[in-house]
Amino acid sequence: MKTTDEFYQKLSEAEKGYKPPRVITSGQGAYLTIDGQPRLNFCSSHYLGFAVDARLRQAATEAMAKYGIGTGYRTLAGTHELHLELERSIAKFKGTQGAMVLSSAYAANAAAIQTILGKEDIVISDALNHASIIDAVRLSGVKQKLVYAHADMADLEAKLQEAAELRATPKADGSALLVLIVTDGVFSMDGDLAPLPRIVELAKQYDAITMVDDAHGEGVMGKGGRGVVDHFGLVGQVDIEVGSLSKAFSVMGGFIAGRHELINFYNAKARQRLFSIALTIPDTAAALEAVRILDESQDLVQKLWDNVDYLRKGFTELGFDIGHSETPIIPVMLGDEDTAREVSAKLFDDGVFATPIVFPMVPKGTARIRVIVSASFSREDCDKGLAAFKRATGR
Ligand SMILES: *Cc1c(COP(=O)(O)O)cnc(C)c1O
Repeated sequence: MKTTDEFYQKLSEAEKGYKPPRVITSGQGAYLTIDGQPRLNFCSSHYLGFAVDARLRQAATEAMAKYGIGTGYRTLAGTHELHLELERSIAKFKGTQGAMVLSSAYAANAAAIQTILGKEDIVISDALNHASIIDAVRLSGVKQKLVYAHADMADLEAKLQEAAELRATPKADGSALLVLIVTDGVFSMDGDLAPLPRIVELAKQYDAITMVDDAHGEGVMGKGGRGVVDHFGLVGQVDIEVGSLSKAFSVMGGFIAGRHELINFYNAKARQRLFSIALTIPDTAAALEAVRILDESQDLVQKLWDNVDYLRKGFTELGFDIGHSETPIIPVMLGDEDTAREVSAKLFDDGVFATPIVFPMVPKGTARIRVIVSASFSREDCDKGLAAFKRATGR
């Protein structure tokens, strides 16, 4: 057989187990229309209901009427005043000196790490970090990748000591090795938080740079949704903050926030900015409106947390194990892979969309249904969801 034929045959065999995702024929509100029926949206990351918010729609529509759709490559002819306005408003919201917006948090993680690290530098990473961080570290070409056990601060310190030994030998050009500690802010499978106060303390002690990917914390954690760094009272003490505009902000795009020197350097050097497209006009305007709404009022974030309290209490009263989440991610633990799949299918038939999370996304025997709470749920929606879980598990 020809190599090319064999190649395509191998591809077909490798994707045999792949199940295409459900197709949605509505907007991403509290309910999704799937197979013609409305289903309670219990598993998207639209924490604040912005995906269908009238104010974001209007901002996007108005900007589109004025400026059209496409922008361009930032450094060539694509930097629009709305991009600069969005970056200024994100920096103000987060209390950082500057911010840079890219097309996704995936790209922002790649830019954040790849642009500042050379092959000889050292990365110290939490074992459960998001795939985009793992890919970003690979892209940087860094050889010394030290991984500490999830949220284990004694292990982080051991890795910092290991890094200190490696640092005794300078780089070929005589400069010192940089050490970057990188972690998710919110871990999305269990909803737990990175122990940032201790990470920042250890970073100071061992002269390391810190980076937090707060994709699930922006718009959710901290005062009015200012993120996990704000939640821990550490504003200004984490070197690099990466956020997503696709989760609570419900648009698309990612950002890096930090000191002037850092953002200016990324603006000049980040390949993800130089060689990839900027956000479109409607995306930029909608994201800008989302930040404006959060900057102005804490009501939506409060509504989200009221729903979190209500649902957590409801699940606990029904006797479910909901783990140790500190965020609006509620892992409803079911243990067995098949049980999780079965419960999810029953929920679906009962009008609730909540996908099972199974191995290899989580360890074997810890299968769960991950419920993600949204401010867009009414009390009736929450009750409906709880009742469906009760029926699906025969409680
Ligand atoms: C979702 C997510 C990303 C990717 O965000 P996009 O903006 O969709 O690229 C990165 N990091 C973490 C921790 C995430 O949860």
